[in-house]
Amino acid sequence: MKAFVLKEKNNTVICDMPRPVLSDDYAAILSPIAISPCTSDVNTVYGNGSKKPDDLILGHECIATVVEVGSKVKDFTPGDRVCVPAITPDWSEPGIQEGNLRHAGKAFSGNALGRSKPGVFAEFFEVEDADMNLAKIPDEVSDEAALMVVDMAATGFTGAEAAEIKFGDTVVVMGIGAVGLMAIAASALSGAGKIIAVGSRPASTVLAIEYGASEVVDYKKTDIVNYVLEETNGKGADAVIICGGADDAMAKAVEMTKYGTGIIVNLKLFAGDGDISFPKFASGRGMGGKTIKMELCKGGRAWMERLLKLVSEERFDPGLLVTKKFEGFENIADALEMMKNKGDDIIKIMVVPEWTEQ
Ligand code: ZN
Repeated sequence: MKAFVLKEKNNTVICDMPRPVLSDDYAAILSPIAISPCTSDVNTVYGNGSKKPDDLILGHECIATVVEVGSKVKDFTPGDRVCVPAITPDWSEPGIQEGNLRHAGKAFSGNALGRSKPGVFAEFFEVEDADMNLAKIPDEVSDEAALMVVDMAATGFTGAEAAEIKFGDTVVVMGIGAVGLMAIAASALSGAGKIIAVGSRPASTVLAIEYGASEVVDYKKTDIVNYVLEETNGKGADAVIICGGADDAMAKAVEMTKYGTGIIVNLKLFAGDGDISFPKFASGRGMGGKTIKMELCKGGRAWMERLLKLVSEERFDPGLLVTKKFEGFENIADALEMMKNKGDDIIKIMVVPEWTEQ
């Protein structure tokens, strides 16, 4: 079967790989309907992350058709159109019983597809614990919208949930890439009063307002910390969700978050080595009552089904994030390259592989 493989750092190739076989009775084999390269794929290929398996098949964002299921799989049959969550928790780890869906057993255990296990950029791939990880896509939900649920909405909504937004809160969303835009939509649906989005790209600015931002503040023209403090009578925001920015994003978030009850949620990947730092004074010398949460996207079936419910009831449309489409699997390399060099009009790319033989 055809697959998009990481040969070594900075070097990817489409090549023939063995078709996966079911590893146990609870697993499923699937074939992608549509895939999307992600900034974290860019980081896997070009970044300085942990050592990856040899000939790693890349990718963790896809919707797929179920091809084959193990004998113990209850709820899925071949032909089902499903969301495959970017995060597939390891349901066999006892830490799951303590709610540790993402790091049970070992760090990033839920972040397996395209990282520690073969990913979804292939003609076929395996998902373990199919009943726990897959979610059927309602007929009325478009391919684009479902594809944008698996990681982008799943991550942005993770951020808003972790931010414990209450009705009328002032929320700052730093960064208006796809995850930031979904954090805006989630904050609006959670009852935020004022949503200050921070970003500058024109295509994202239009969508930020569409998804519910009160305003978009350009960090190149405005001192964001001062602006947020002014807008909140010096108190700071109830919640800051970090979805982008430079390494000083955490410091800025601490400075503009409310003393006593403010919550900072980080969804950004701080690449490279070194420290994430924040100022002593603005943190109340470490006693300011500002909570910092470090969140990876939530995964698993129930989370997918909740988000798909919001889409099927037309509460928001994550499909608007798809600003570029390719037909043909061979375009995945170009699509990844476009995500690396993000032009002004690129938010997310959908590749429809159009397999010829199955
Ligand atoms: Zn992703």
